[in-house]
Amino acid sequence: MMGPFVTRDGSGWMPEYLSAIDGTTCIGCGRCFKVCSREVMHLYGIDDSGEILGICDGQDDDFDGELNRMIMVVDHGGRCIGCGACARVCPKNCQTHVAADKVAA
Ligand code: SF4
Ligand code: SF4
Repeated sequence: MMGPFVTRDGSGWMPEYLSAIDGTTCIGCGRCFKVCSREVMHLYGIDDSGEILGICDGQDDDFDGELNRMIMVVDHGGRCIGCGACARVCPKNCQTHVAADKVAA
């Protein structure tokens, strides 16, 4: 178990780390990315069968015509501070968060 966790005034609080995003329901709106200060997740392109083609970085975001749609992927989960901002803005409720006291050290 990790912790204890406290705010600046010493009050206890429990970080809720982003652990996964359901790629079948994510609409790739980018709201979570915009509110996250830690670059925990990024947009990726997927093809017709749902296979990930690669990160959308402005280089070849059409993936040579293979792109079906974009989804958000948790590719740097270790950077998350568990603030919960991403969960509050997600319109599809497709994120999974894990309480810090449930994460192995
Ligand atoms: S919980 Fe906070 S730090 Fe973690 S991914 Fe969401 S917005 Fe970023
Ligand atoms: S806010 Fe939700 S629906 Fe929008 S990109 Fe993030 S995880 Fe996907």
